[in-house]
Amino acid sequence: MYIADLHIHSRYSRATSRELTPETLELSARRKGIRLLGTGDFTHPAWQAELEEKLVPAEDGLCRLKKEYMREPGEGDACKGTRFVVSGEISSIYKQDGRVRKVHSLILLPGLEEAKLLSKRLEAIGNICSDGRPILGLSCRDLLEIMLETCPDGIFVPAHIWTPHFSMFGACSGFDTVEECFGDLAPHIHAVETGLSSDPPMNWRLSALDRFQLISNSDAHSPAKLGREANLLDTELSYAGLKRAVEMGNGLAGTIEFFPEEGKYHFDGHRKYHICMSPLEAESHGGICPVCKKKMTMGVSHRIDQLADRPEGFLPERRKPFESLVPLPEVIAASTGRSVASKRVQEEYLDMLRVLGTEFEILREVPVEDIRRHFGRLAAEGIRRLRNGEVARLPGFDGEYGTIRLFRPDELENPDGQMTMAGIFGAGGGESQASHDRKEARREACDAGNLEAQKGDGCSAGSPEAMEGSACAAGALEELVLLTSGEPSAFLSELPEEALLRETVRGPGETGMKQLSLFDFM
Ligand SMILES: [Zn+2]
Ligand SMILES: [Zn+2]
Repeated sequence: MYIADLHIHSRYSRATSRELTPETLELSARRKGIRLLGTGDFTHPAWQAELEEKLVPAEDGLCRLKKEYMREPGEGDACKGTRFVVSGEISSIYKQDGRVRKVHSLILLPGLEEAKLLSKRLEAIGNICSDGRPILGLSCRDLLEIMLETCPDGIFVPAHIWTPHFSMFGACSGFDTVEECFGDLAPHIHAVETGLSSDPPMNWRLSALDRFQLISNSDAHSPAKLGREANLLDTELSYAGLKRAVEMGNGLAGTIEFFPEEGKYHFDGHRKYHICMSPLEAESHGGICPVCKKKMTMGVSHRIDQLADRPEGFLPERRKPFESLVPLPEVIAASTGRSVASKRVQEEYLDMLRVLGTEFEILREVPVEDIRRHFGRLAAEGIRRLRNGEVARLPGFDGEYGTIRLFRPDELENPDGQMTMAGIFGAGGGESQASHDRKEARREACDAGNLEAQKGDGCSAGSPEAMEGSACAAGALEELVLLTSGEPSAFLSELPEEALLRETVRGPGETGMKQLSLFDFM
């Protein structure tokens, strides 16, 4: 059995960490216990050249990092390193049936030669040099056709299919069915990526998805985020084994998931005014933001309600198991009251890896008693609760990550008096003040509104009045210890899309995107 994360990005994609080199990817993946990692960004010429220089062929259709580039090579199996499979994501923006469609697609290939052939075809259609995840005016159907012509062995997977702005089923610019999106070529689609804001049970509500494999990947934009979602494969380590697992489910043993509430688009809302609503509440407001009277962004939960033909909780016969986890540094942060980005948390993370094994072993397998013996009661209890799903969930919305809480404040021993609101509310050093303020306001709104958030099914206080009540602040202060994956990429969803497109045209390097070196904290 091994863990595979197939959708990631390199430092050549916009808004990604400069740390995303083959060396860092390999080391981070190995530390986490990811055996097979997508290379990301196969269309980008500079990344292709770097992969060609630093990787060598390993098992059939896979590559590994050359020995001389490996950091902390280790012993035994570890010294063979993480395997790579050539992967990339294309953003298609085009018009179909009178509407603008924006859909992301993940492509996996059996080698760098295939990557070059396919890139050559795509180069004729649009600019593949300015962004590791290029934007092409090419329909998903035509992209799939080109892949099938160029490399029949390629694997084509609609990416994060529920994301409102850029996906196959997205509420803003997607389709209602796979057939509508891919037309006559729909039979060549065998798997879909469920994305961070949905988990398998949400997808099981659509009988139309029964014939597809549900896969999960991190879509990481920094090394720390690798594996936050991933696939469990029980098959041979080879491209052929991977293809069978992804397309037929033979050897796809299950998936590792985010709690879907933690994803940035779980509920409906309007981020600018801290408005977050469950699908039902949003319906009662006609999908309109009560503050500015504009349309709210429909979340994944609501969009699934629209397309589902089965009730919540439906269990299809042919289904794969899944586990919901959060990254280990976030568990450490939650159990110590420090921020994820703090030096102490990072040190303890590396300590745990040294003593107990890979991150996934610690999160999934190491006996709680062993964790307690080496790293104390709270870290062990945090992991126990995580494994049992005993977490409080505050849903994300309109580009704002949700929050998963492992401890109540009164359960924590005061770590060292360093506890600050900024640290408690998330990524600390990596988080902007604005983002922190928004989170704080939202918490207050939720606390004032009701206790639904505790149960994980509602952040319903939508009115600005709720945010101004003085009782709210007290409520927020009580909720001292939170676990969040809020990351600087949140900035991006605030920029109008036209601005993003303009950035692409201007090319990387001299733009506002530079602020995203904040990813270096992650
Ligand atoms: Zn994407
Ligand atoms: Zn991506």
